[in-house]
Amino acid sequence: MDQNSITVTLTENKKEIPQSNQLEFGRIYSDHMFIMDYEASTGWHSPRIVPYQNLVLDPAAIVFHYGQTVFEGLKAYVTKQGNVQLFRPEKNMERLNRSNDRMCIPRIDEDFGLEAIKKLVSIDKDWIPTAPGTSLYVRPFIISTEPYLGVAPSKKYQFIIILSPVGAYYKEGINPIKIAVESKFVRAVSGGTGEAKTAGNYAASLKAQEVVAEQGYAQVLWLDGVERNYIEEVGSMNIFFKINGEIVTPALNGSILEGVTRNSVIELLKKWEIPVIEKQISMDDIYQAYQDGHLEEAFGSGTAAVISPVGELAWNDDKLKINNGEIGPIAKKLYDTLTGIQYGAEADPFGWIVEVE
Ligand SMILES: *Cc1c(COP(=O)(O)O)cnc(C)c1O
Repeated sequence: MDQNSITVTLTENKKEIPQSNQLEFGRIYSDHMFIMDYEASTGWHSPRIVPYQNLVLDPAAIVFHYGQTVFEGLKAYVTKQGNVQLFRPEKNMERLNRSNDRMCIPRIDEDFGLEAIKKLVSIDKDWIPTAPGTSLYVRPFIISTEPYLGVAPSKKYQFIIILSPVGAYYKEGINPIKIAVESKFVRAVSGGTGEAKTAGNYAASLKAQEVVAEQGYAQVLWLDGVERNYIEEVGSMNIFFKINGEIVTPALNGSILEGVTRNSVIELLKKWEIPVIEKQISMDDIYQAYQDGHLEEAFGSGTAAVISPVGELAWNDDKLKINNGEIGPIAKKLYDTLTGIQYGAEADPFGWIVEVE
């Protein structure tokens, strides 16, 4: 299959495109969507771009009952010169297939998946907002559609891509967030589905998020599911700490989601010759560094916020203030460089940008 095999039906009722400066995250969808189907007998087939519309599914579809589904998230940006670009989208397609493997969902052709994203974004390119910090969020996902109440991998699937214009994550400059270390609930355990981008992980995280939100925290910092001591990640971000001049981040251990932004941060730090180490990190290590005055920065990394500095970590009865609640120099440099590359304002020495015609 190539781009030409995707049939296109354009909408006859174009929606009004929202103002760039009034956007939230994930509330508005563009005019078109991509769909293709899978049956065990034929494999993936009938790729098509159609007007954005509701799905018609049997109430017994497996996805509703047992959550056999995976998703991805990336963004399309428009540069000052008007070029449309994606940031490392092949990484998202690779990860989609890793998630598929874990969830017993048939793989997609990664090159074709990327062609589908490009074609859809190109058709709806007027939907890419232009105000600073805004972008068009791309959400590819796969659902299991076979009607069957038995617990077994589905024999039918749909691969769908939708687009959502999203506002600037930081409307008034980057403000460090306060996060609570979660010692009661866990997100994932080794051997579970933590490293797959699959719905159940997020359903499982809602309760903890609800509890800390009442206490004024933006997110939770997840610890490992066995000892409740080793740091995993934050909400939908990976986490980094600067301790005594060195950047540390939890090593991938099977329960952490491997972020594209995480990987990009590590690559940039290496290029800048700033020491960066992936290892097991305990909350005791962090607390010790804090008491010694060596906890210099903490920040999350993810597609939505890019870099999100952490100004305070609440752990049991302690409140660890980091860098006076201000963004640190490394987090700032990473944010400026990554967004510079994404919006085409900075050179792209790694070849991370993929142009959309
Ligand atoms: C998507 C996600 C991330 C960040 O991944 P990016 O590719 O950098 O956006 C981190 N943790 C979780 C749980 C996620 O779902």
